[in-house]
Amino acid sequence: MLKIVTVNKNEKFLRQKSEIVTFEQLRTARVQSLIEEMLQHVSEDDGEAGLSAIQIGTPLQIFIFENHSQKNEKPEAIPVINPELKLLGNATEIETEGCVSIPKIFDKVERHKRVSLSYITPSGKKIKKTYSGFTARIIQHEYDHLQGVLFTDKIAKSSGKTHQETKTNRETE
Ligand SMILES: [Zn+2]
Repeated sequence: MLKIVTVNKNEKFLRQKSEIVTFEQLRTARVQSLIEEMLQHVSEDDGEAGLSAIQIGTPLQIFIFENHSQKNEKPEAIPVINPELKLLGNATEIETEGCVSIPKIFDKVERHKRVSLSYITPSGKKIKKTYSGFTARIIQHEYDHLQGVLFTDKIAKSSGKTHQETKTNRETE
């Protein structure tokens, strides 16, 4: 079982920027088994569509996302190392998000509809692909984790209160 770092326990840790994985690091058993564990975790948990290494205590630029763009197929969990993300076009959409590192909070976030993702695979191969919709949303959420950004920073204005405001209101009640 992987131990998840939450904002309640260690927000400061989650707020740091994850470090680039060097080719030397990528070849180590430690990093390879970390990727394996993360892959297994996301594949087995139906509620989780992605996971970043920083969420399990390792601030390296590694995340897993589920590819939901293959119709009629079980979403495939894909490991991503040292990602570069490009937001494509101006089209955005607002959907509800949650995060295992932020228990019990679900709120609407505006994300780009289409993104281009470049990364390397666990075996060191370079990949560049375009994703849209829910899969593009997962990728943007996980990419943010590597920058120390949480979805609660981006809660859509249209949903009314921000996380901070909600928290303040609750505290003052
Ligand atoms: Zn998250």
